[in-house]
Amino acid sequence: MPLIQVEKLKKYKGKRISLFFTEELPALPAGEDGIQPLREVEYRLSATNAGTAITVEGMIKVDLRVQCNRCLESFAHPQEIVFQEIYYDRNLHKMGAGELDWIPYTGDQIDITPEVVQNILLNLPMRFLCRDDCVGLCEVCGKDLNKEKCACSRDDLDPRLAKLKDLLK
Ligand SMILES: [Zn+2]
Ligand SMILES: [Zn+2]
Repeated sequence: MPLIQVEKLKKYKGKRISLFFTEELPALPAGEDGIQPLREVEYRLSATNAGTAITVEGMIKVDLRVQCNRCLESFAHPQEIVFQEIYYDRNLHKMGAGELDWIPYTGDQIDITPEVVQNILLNLPMRFLCRDDCVGLCEVCGKDLNKEKCACSRDDLDPRLAKLKDLLK
């Protein structure tokens, strides 16, 4: 899990450390089963002692393999996510107004896993399309219509069109 050691950081205000590391993708919540990591997650972060809090910011690079919602092909979905969170030591600081999105931690390390997962999920599109004009699978024979045509008469499946056809008879 992505951990930030803050023991040295705590020494003085303004102290800053850079963090470059790669790690396995943290487990995503159920319902995201179609998403697989292509490689380890790349972290390029810096942590700064800002006095009452520690700010962690930078980029997270995530290369995922996802499934097209139309044709079910999997394809690579690389993402660069801007990460920016503020952490405070629960034992040293009482959260004030305007700090509602600050995240508490205790001890000498901060586990940023929940925020990493949250940021990854927030950056996922509503649905995955292998390309904007993906025509998907034939509803009748299941062929991938991006690759081949089929002879199925799919119009019959659309109730509105079926009605129109009846009218024209
Ligand atoms: Zn597709
Ligand atoms: Zn077909």
